[in-house]
Amino acid sequence: MKKFKPNTEGFYGEYGGAFVPEMLYPNVKQLQAEYQKIIDSSDFQAEFNLLLHDYVGRPSPLYFSKNLSRKYGAQIYLKREDLNHTGAHKINNTIGQILLAKRLGKKRIIAETGAGQHGVATATVCALMGMECKVFMGEIDMARQKPNVDRMRLLGTEVVPAKSGSKTLKDATNEAIREWINNPVDVHYIIGSVVGPHPYPDMVAQFQSIISAEMKKQLLEKTGSESPDYIIACLGGGSNAMGAFYHYIDDPKTKLIAVEAAGKGVETTETAASIALGRKGIIHGSKTYLIQTDDGQIVEPYSISAGLDYPGIGPVHAYLHDSGKAEIVNATDMEALAAGFELSQLEGIIPALESAHALAHLPKMKLKPSDVVVVNLSGRGDKDMQTYQKFLNV
Ligand SMILES: *Cc1c(COP(=O)(O)O)cnc(C)c1O
Repeated sequence: MKKFKPNTEGFYGEYGGAFVPEMLYPNVKQLQAEYQKIIDSSDFQAEFNLLLHDYVGRPSPLYFSKNLSRKYGAQIYLKREDLNHTGAHKINNTIGQILLAKRLGKKRIIAETGAGQHGVATATVCALMGMECKVFMGEIDMARQKPNVDRMRLLGTEVVPAKSGSKTLKDATNEAIREWINNPVDVHYIIGSVVGPHPYPDMVAQFQSIISAEMKKQLLEKTGSESPDYIIACLGGGSNAMGAFYHYIDDPKTKLIAVEAAGKGVETTETAASIALGRKGIIHGSKTYLIQTDDGQIVEPYSISAGLDYPGIGPVHAYLHDSGKAEIVNATDMEALAAGFELSQLEGIIPALESAHALAHLPKMKLKPSDVVVVNLSGRGDKDMQTYQKFLNV
């Protein structure tokens, strides 16, 4: 299938690129030079596809949700990434990157994680491949997300606390980059979303594009057309959205909708809505929209769902937004919670709070009975039980 790609410098329009310290040039240049050749090789494709099938459990089902369809007056399908091994889409990317790292001759893996979901997906593939793994995590996040810290340790990964700054994701990222600079030859840095310097956004998009590749076949079989009227996905860094959009970006029939986390509301300071509130700047090595103060300091984002509280978005989404190829909306904590309760009780599926943001857009749409809508259910809600529980009795 056709690839949707940035230019050779990694730009989607004016967004993206590779703004990295000179010390990182050798690593980034090596990746840029090698990644596409490796991904396109037949032995990579064979190993990647076998693992996606037998280890992850793909293809993930495309489920016709009769009850949501009745409620919203359209034909609503759920792409069940929640059924993947480790409970979300993130494993698609970590499998791709570990296979790439092996072929680059790397000996060790590092990653950063906020909520711990990407850390767990990375620790999982490192266990599978017998690679040494270090995951950097803010000290505060480690306390907040203890079950994921325990999971990573059980999988044999060393979890390194980031003790500087606000002791959260951005500090963990800084520590991971420092480690990478100090070990340029034998370390591969697995980034968890379509963010970071080129070629990460493109590489992660290609690994996640399996989602829309499967969707095309499944929709054709179930509806007689590959192209739905709408695809809706939540937007943190943007990898599940990009995976769900990838093969539809130039399809005139399909409207692409990404839902950011508004947190307590875009009119408050407790939000993670990068497109609604952000301005252009550089974060983690690429140019995109990010939430920043007037003098360019990154603002600590907030969302009820830990996977969406990233202060920027992948450069490809900045481009999709500006070019009108995707519509970027947002949903508040309360809207997402309501949508999470609704899916649980209408379908017996407890969604991740991230995915609940995508579902929260349904009541705001004007749908016709003939409309085919796919909601990308990026993950399952087991990890969010504590948060759901708090709202069960109110
Ligand atoms: C991490 C995560 C997200 C957000 O990341 P994207 O790169 O925007 O997809 C969304 N849903 C789930 C379940 C996650 O774990």
